[in-house]
Amino acid sequence: MSVGVAVLGSTGSIGRSTLQVISRQRERFRVVAITGHSNKDLLAAQQKEWRPAFVGLVNGGARDTGNGIRRGAQCLVEAATHPDVRIVVNGIVGAAGLEATLAALRAGKRVALANKETLVMAGDLVTQAAREGGGEIVPVDSEHSAVLQCVTGRLPTELARLILTASGGPFRTWGPERVSQATVAEALKHPTWTMGRKITVDSATLVNKALEVIEAHYLFAVADEDIDVVIHPQSVIHGFAEFVDGSVLAQVGFPTMELPILYALTYPERVPDSGVRRFDPVAAGALTFEELQLDRFPAYAVGREAARRGGTAPAMFNAANEVAVQLFLDEKIPFGKISGVLERVLERARPGDATTLAGALAADAEARRLAQEAACS
Ligand code: NDP
Ligand code: MG
Repeated sequence: MSVGVAVLGSTGSIGRSTLQVISRQRERFRVVAITGHSNKDLLAAQQKEWRPAFVGLVNGGARDTGNGIRRGAQCLVEAATHPDVRIVVNGIVGAAGLEATLAALRAGKRVALANKETLVMAGDLVTQAAREGGGEIVPVDSEHSAVLQCVTGRLPTELARLILTASGGPFRTWGPERVSQATVAEALKHPTWTMGRKITVDSATLVNKALEVIEAHYLFAVADEDIDVVIHPQSVIHGFAEFVDGSVLAQVGFPTMELPILYALTYPERVPDSGVRRFDPVAAGALTFEELQLDRFPAYAVGREAARRGGTAPAMFNAANEVAVQLFLDEKIPFGKISGVLERVLERARPGDATTLAGALAADAEARRLAQEAACS
């Protein structure tokens, strides 16, 4: 009997890759539920192709249209807790993915998590929901999938340090002056990955890597000072795990999200026929590593500071970043202002308790307000 999968954000980059992965694994997995936000045409095409039991569209009011598509934000939780679903792939972008993750974990399901923002926003709550509900979080993010592959079968006490790799994004070799004036088109030109717009901008500021440090802290219970980041422009080594004896394991492969998605579905097993390009060290060529320069990536530095402070600081950092990135994409603020907005919000942030949903949501809302203010000033 195949395993039922819900794909939240099926119309996005992760969602489409997930369906691609499942199309090669039809004996193992079946698509039970899909959800989109605004892209109704693609959602309708996916509905026709996959014939899932449940189809949800967030945008468009709370009513059920004749074609079997559930409308409104509550469709996410409905899809995530559908009785025929065992694995929920959360490919939603931003804080909007939180409730569905919590509901799926409380219902004892596996969440294959791409939606890192919600682990940053409410990591304590999400890990607690998993413990209490018997659900599990398996990362889809390539760096975290790499670490998981390195630590699977080891004891947590054997793990000493994590090193996450970062491509450095499109502005790795640019001077600060030029970066601060970068256009939307330039920020969206990622050197090694094709992804949604928000995460692509996050990769240009390196906020993505700060979010990933916080994500790794919650996934692997490693203190954030024991999580390092190194620039690796080729994106071939995805992550390293260092053990207490000094041994280091790394996971290697040409950049593709299909492998981490497949591994999150089959974990801890591995299955054949992934369809991915075989690794070839000669074709990969020289692998290089550089130190991350904080003065080049000030927004990343703010994120690390938020991680260090803990409490609601990561939630506020994340929310402020969502606002700042949207304003940049709408050409309301220059690229160089994103880090300034984040800094201002964190300066003003009052320390708070992120272990309740009310606390996390309040911090998120407060940071969005402060970010709007900071962007206008
Ligand atoms: P995309 O922008 O390509 O897709 C986002 C998806 O979420 C779409 O299906 C979109 O629907 C839906 N969506 C947008 N807003 C909402 C909302 N308010 N409520 C519900 N659904 C919504 O993003 P990506 O696929 O690139 O990224 C998704 C997540 O995965 C992010 O958290 C990102 O950081 C993470 N991730 C992505 C990677 C990648 O390679 N793309 C790699 C690692 C992590 P619609 O299009 O119909 O409007
Ligand atoms: Mg990543």
